[in-house]
Amino acid sequence: MVKIPVRVVDWDDIVNWSSGISDKIKRDEYKVDVIIAIARGGLVPARLVADALGVLDVISIKVEHWVQTANKDVEAKIKFPYKLDLKGGNVLIVDDICDTGDSLEIAKKFVSDNFNPGAIRTSTMQYIESTARIKPDYYAATITDWAWFMYPWNYWEDEINLIRKLLDNGVKTDIEHAFKDNYGVEPPIPVKDVLEEMKRRNLLNF
Ligand code: AMP
Repeated sequence: MVKIPVRVVDWDDIVNWSSGISDKIKRDEYKVDVIIAIARGGLVPARLVADALGVLDVISIKVEHWVQTANKDVEAKIKFPYKLDLKGGNVLIVDDICDTGDSLEIAKKFVSDNFNPGAIRTSTMQYIESTARIKPDYYAATITDWAWFMYPWNYWEDEINLIRKLLDNGVKTDIEHAFKDNYGVEPPIPVKDVLEEMKRRNLLNF
C-alpha cells in the first residue's frame, strides 16, 4: 500500500492564508475590479479576499483537475465555459493551492480569451514549490514537501476517498489505525460517521 502524506487544514489556517494574500495585494497596490474564484477550491478564499479588499464583483469558473483525492486527472479543463465582457477590468484569480499550476494556467488563458479583462493576476493560499511549473503572483504559504491538504470544506470528500483507498487495499478492521498509519494524521471526522455516509451514497459493497 502506497502511503500518502496528508495534512489536515483548519479554519484558522484558511483565514490567515487568505489575509496573507490580501495583505500582499494591498502592499502591491494592485487595484482589483473583479475576483474570479476557481471552483471549487477557490470559493471560500476568494470570498475572504474579496471582503478584505472591498471587492464586490466575485464570479467563478469551474476547473477540473484532481477529481479524486490525491489522484490527478490527465489534463486540467474548464467544465462549463462561458463568455463575459469585463470591459477591461483588473482581475484577480483565486484558488486554494498551486500544486502543478495547471489549473491556474488554464484559468488565466480562459479568462484572457473569453472575459475581455485588463490585467490578470493569480493568487493561491498555498504554493508547492517542488511541484508547480508556475508561481502565482500572490501566495501566502510556501510548501517544500508535497502533501495532500485536507481543507475544512473538503473533509467529507477527502476522508471518503482516503478510506476507500484503504478498503480497496484490503483493510477491513481498525480503519482509524490504518488511516493514521498510511496518511500520518487522525481522520478529522469520526470514521463511523464517514462509513455511514459512504453507505448512504452507495459507496460500500459490504
Ligand atoms: P493544480 O492544477 O495541480 O495546481 O491543482 C488543482 C486543484 O486540485 C487545486 O486547486 C486543489 O483544489 C486541488 N489540489 C491539487 N493538489 C492538492 C494538494 N496537494 N492538496 C489539496 N488539494 C490539492
